[in-house]
Amino acid sequence: MNSRTGVDSAPQQLSANRNYPVAGAWYRRLDLDNGVTRIWEPYVHPLEQANFWHIRGSERDLLIDSGMGIVPLRESFPDLFDKREVIAVATHTHIDHIGAIHEFDHRWVHPAEASQMEHPSGIVTLVCADIPPMLCQLFVEAGYPPFDELLIDAFPHAGYNPLDYRLRGVAPTRLVTEDDIVDLGDRRFEIIHTPGHSPGSICLWEEATGALYSGDLIYDGPLVYEGPGMDLDIYADSLRRLKTLPIQVVHAGHDPSFGWARLVEIIDSYLKRWNM
Ligand SMILES: [Zn+2]
Repeated sequence: MNSRTGVDSAPQQLSANRNYPVAGAWYRRLDLDNGVTRIWEPYVHPLEQANFWHIRGSERDLLIDSGMGIVPLRESFPDLFDKREVIAVATHTHIDHIGAIHEFDHRWVHPAEASQMEHPSGIVTLVCADIPPMLCQLFVEAGYPPFDELLIDAFPHAGYNPLDYRLRGVAPTRLVTEDDIVDLGDRRFEIIHTPGHSPGSICLWEEATGALYSGDLIYDGPLVYEGPGMDLDIYADSLRRLKTLPIQVVHAGHDPSFGWARLVEIIDSYLKRWNM
């Protein structure tokens, strides 16, 4: 048994009949207007295929979340990260949001998840057998594809050994909560504490553009609201709170961005599903 997850320990080798192609480029990027870049990892299972957001400021830049950390992030995007001061903020500390945050000098997170960032637990490998079967069942019932052997379906380079991967823990450099500001010089982002998906989940709100960076509180796909550290009543309160903000666009932790009408539609559908 695996003491971390309580399930049978991971296989020591991969099945011989499963073929993993080598990815041409591990990351994908989409440059939006207004200095915003969306980055994601297309070869990661949709459950853990997160968006991370790079925002250019006049004095320094902001990175919201950082993916799985399977491939070094900074050196993959020299035009974004070379010689710039970057404040890396974790919306929360699940594996798909903090994988590469150790590469950055400034690492901000909510105090409720500081220890989880430094000593990650839960899902910390690429091996699906390490995920408790009950959780896998919940994810599939929520609408995610079934789980195969690994959380990736390609390797970043020839000779890669996915069994060597472990989510790397690192101490945060600053703890941030409600009303704290990320100041990039010409633009500022307000931290909003929106627990529910996890105790220390935060959103970043840029009032000047009406853009909300929502992490996993809300995205346009199956929301994950049942599992360790999740609370439905608190989740519902955080969703209701979003409807009080003049949001024009949501740049979420997963899936494509969306506007106000879709935001309200998603919130109302979940509150109805939960009888709230
Ligand atoms: Zn999450």
